[in-house]
Amino acid sequence: MTTSTTDSSTPAPGAAASTDERIAVVNPATGLQIGSAPVFDAAAVAELAARGRAAQPGWEAMGFDGRALVLRRMQQWMSDHADELLEILQAETGRVFEDSVLELAYPLTALGHWARNAEKYLRPQKAAASSPFVLSRRLRSYYRPYGLVGIIAPWNFPITIGFGDSIPALAAGNAVILKPSEITPLSIEVIRRGLEECGMPEGVFQIATGAGATGAAVVDVVDMVMFTGSTATGRKVGAQAAQRLIPASLELGGKDPMIVLADANLERAANLAVFGATVNSGQVCLSTERFYVEEAVYDEFVSRVVAKVSALRQGVPVAPGSVDVGAIITADQLEVIDAQVRDAVAKGARVLVGGQPVRGVTGRFYEPTVLVDVDHTMACMTDETFGPLLPIMKVADADEAVRLANDTRYGLAATIVTRDRARGAELAGRIDAGTVSVNDMLTHCFALGLPMGGVKTSGIGTRHGAAGIRKFCATKAVLVAPSFPNADIHFYPANEKVSPLLLAAVTGLYGTASRVARATPRALATARRLRRELGR
Ligand code: NDP
Repeated sequence: MTTSTTDSSTPAPGAAASTDERIAVVNPATGLQIGSAPVFDAAAVAELAARGRAAQPGWEAMGFDGRALVLRRMQQWMSDHADELLEILQAETGRVFEDSVLELAYPLTALGHWARNAEKYLRPQKAAASSPFVLSRRLRSYYRPYGLVGIIAPWNFPITIGFGDSIPALAAGNAVILKPSEITPLSIEVIRRGLEECGMPEGVFQIATGAGATGAAVVDVVDMVMFTGSTATGRKVGAQAAQRLIPASLELGGKDPMIVLADANLERAANLAVFGATVNSGQVCLSTERFYVEEAVYDEFVSRVVAKVSALRQGVPVAPGSVDVGAIITADQLEVIDAQVRDAVAKGARVLVGGQPVRGVTGRFYEPTVLVDVDHTMACMTDETFGPLLPIMKVADADEAVRLANDTRYGLAATIVTRDRARGAELAGRIDAGTVSVNDMLTHCFALGLPMGGVKTSGIGTRHGAAGIRKFCATKAVLVAPSFPNADIHFYPANEKVSPLLLAAVTGLYGTASRVARATPRALATARRLRRELGR
């Protein structure tokens, strides 16, 4: 773990100047300051934007192969610098070694995926003629990078999200300004250095450290914004983007349910539950935050979960494997978790394990906590927790579980545990969430061929799959007609013989055969009548 302090985002030669103000970065597990980062105000962000715009055409001109080469080099660079990255990630998040390894796995996967697939997803698309008016036309749509993309990231996975979302934007040919969370601005600076060493042209990938105002300044200067964070901030970013009429992709909060059916492998279900709720101390957008268990297996499931949670080791992570659960990022976040537990207990819930912040330590930790006798009047079942809580509710059957799982304003992810995979898939179709796993959780983020995003207040747009890179591009539709004949049927001058035929063709094409037969005489009769009326 880092003990020395690190300074982030020291502007490179010729880089935009930030203000004199600096943000102190503290290790949540030890309470010690580990570094600082500059604050970019609106003027400094505008300078970054100018540099990014100047650099982007050259980056786009490198083509898919040229860009893929840089991304593949970066994949190797990150593998070679894994120790440095793990150390800094652990220090700025206060999490355990294993959580940081999981974090590192994502960009390593994503660099290869987008290097390999960007061209395939963005190659021109042919369209078939859908009307006689476009017969003999060549119809193609093309994807062109927007130009300058703003990526705004939260603190819970500083590299996976901040850099991970930048990768498809870069692979598409955009320049990027990344605004990391003010709480975790250090690891991303290592990434910037790596990209530079791997041949990324100066100005293509830039970092604007700072708080919310810096994020707002980024939205003000970019051509498209990709935001990940809370639903509350996502609404502000969406509104600001709407004012500027730029596209926004929003990956927001969640309250992911797990449904445990009576036929489940209960040992896997309990392990999934404990891991799903406590990995990264529960601070994952895909954390499992509430549990609905069929009556027949409820007692057995709860007793297995209680045993496993009681066995978790928590504390300052000093080495790989030393503890299972790390710190909570901020004092405010610790208070959110504790307030939810207090609210649940006041309304009749029972705490079976944990239930309070860890006392007598310098860092911030919350005991992994199992709550039973919970219901939807309690905040722990309705509001995002972002902490190691397992509120477990007994349900009569799968229908009640699905109803309760859908009783939420969120719709990010969900898990169903059952031995009957077909039934699991059928129930998945009834859950209002962007991603659903059967007998699994979290691994969706490694399925880069599948779209991943939220519904309801969990977001707009998706990561991954073809849509995960096309969103960083404007679509251009090009129609190429032959240069002959000299005039088409609908050109001027209007002609009394041809116009009725045009109507016959239009109605005949979309109507029935008898309508075709009627159309021509009726059209001719209408034309004659109109001519009489007009006195011609
Ligand atoms: P926040 O919404 O508080 O912040 C996210 C980012 O937005 C930060 O960089 C923040 O800066 C910045 N920001 C704050 N205000 C503005 C503004 N007005 N304009 C532009 N940017 C702004 O989220 P957290 O960092 O607390 O992250 C936790 C949240 O992220 C949870 O709700 C979690 O569910 C969600 N999340 C969603 C994921 C998904 O894929 N759906 C993945 C991971 C997390 P600063 O922090 O410096 O103030």
